[in-house]
Amino acid sequence: MYQFDITIIGAGVVGLAVAEEVSGKGKRVLVVERNTTFGQETSSRNSEVIHAGIYYTNGFLKAQLCREGNRLLYELCRERSIPHRATGKLIVATEEKEISELLAIKEKAERNGVDDLSFLSRKEILQREPSVKAVEAIFSPSTGIVDSHGLMRSFCHHAEAAGATVVFRSEVTAIQYDGSSYEVEINNGEYRFLSAILVNCAGLHSDRIAKLAGLDIDAKDYRLKYCKGDYFSISPSPGFRHLVYPVPVKNHAGLGVHATIDLTGRVRFGPDVEYVSVLNYAVREEKRESFYRAIRSYLPSLRLETLSPDMSGIRPKLQGPGEPERDFVIADERESGLPGLINLIGIESPGLTSCIAIARRVHFLIQQYL
Ligand SMILES: Cc1cc2nc3c(=O)[nH]c(=O)nc-3n(C[C@H](O)[C@H](O)[C@H](O)COP(=O)(O)OP(=O)(O)OC[C@H]3O[C@@H](n4cnc5c(N)ncnc54)[C@H](O)[C@@H]3O)c2cc1C
Repeated sequence: MYQFDITIIGAGVVGLAVAEEVSGKGKRVLVVERNTTFGQETSSRNSEVIHAGIYYTNGFLKAQLCREGNRLLYELCRERSIPHRATGKLIVATEEKEISELLAIKEKAERNGVDDLSFLSRKEILQREPSVKAVEAIFSPSTGIVDSHGLMRSFCHHAEAAGATVVFRSEVTAIQYDGSSYEVEINNGEYRFLSAILVNCAGLHSDRIAKLAGLDIDAKDYRLKYCKGDYFSISPSPGFRHLVYPVPVKNHAGLGVHATIDLTGRVRFGPDVEYVSVLNYAVREEKRESFYRAIRSYLPSLRLETLSPDMSGIRPKLQGPGEPERDFVIADERESGLPGLINLIGIESPGLTSCIAIARRVHFLIQQYL
């Protein structure tokens, strides 16, 4: 049976970042992906925002890895000419009573080490975004956007150039630990191999992979809840140059229906928040009204008929509706009797921003086994 040193399950942005980080020096590294190519799930269904690390609970990995990841991602994009742009972002208070929330956001961000935020007056907001109505705003200069496919292509290419093998149409269907290696079954028995280390980067299915490996995912609190985010596009475009976010609604599991721009300048609004039980990416036309109401608070010139259903993505959340925010799980399961099984669970936003920092953390965890 083939024997690998490190197997990564899932070729999303996180799995591929890990693959590049751990490849080389003669290590036998394999990436297994069930789809026909990389990045077909959450990594291509998101806002492509390089977050600054503003909102996350102080002390969380989300806060630390987002800040580190922001810096590392900009560096990598510059070095490899991966399309990206530091657009900057406005968080807008549309009413006087929201100003205190802006202050709280800035303080929280500063505790997370994000020290480049500034306040903009009504006049300064209008200079930057003439169609946005707001009484005051926070400006984040280090927020930007990235071509997530270009990024994944680059990770994949560099991992393969360093000797990693990336295989598609290969779904992990069983995992058996024999005390020294993991035996991994693909496509219900089509082939099997052994791996000393297993890195679970299976996104929306990472809890199932943990279960296949023999963990009690309820006892470990690893069971994922699916939280869908829909987007609506707008035509004609309001021509935003920055990302525009409202003040987030407390305990609402998302950052509020914001305006994202892609590298072609196309504006999309979203994602909203809807816990779902099945993975279905259809965007319902009847949500147009609720999007209209949310966006109009900061874009009063918006007309309902200019909005059209666009794409959606599904967040792999560890917390259910109304529950307090949970952190990323990045754990070696040694204490549960599975040394060298590294679980990455609940890698929702800011997972794209944090991918290189997450990969470095995984590399650190597996160094003891190499
Ligand atoms: C609506 C939305 C907006 C977001 N916006 C942002 C943003 O602007 N900025 C940001 O930083 N983050 C954002 N995120 C978060 C970001 O997209 C994710 O954190 C990131 O893409 C997760 O990458 P991943 O590789 O862990 O997961 P995925 O991209 O889901 O990859 C997991 C892979 O594992 C594979 N897989 C699953 N099961 C198996 C199996 N049994 N065998 C083999 N392969 C398997 C899947 O096919 C998939 O390709 C957003 C997320 C959503 C949903």
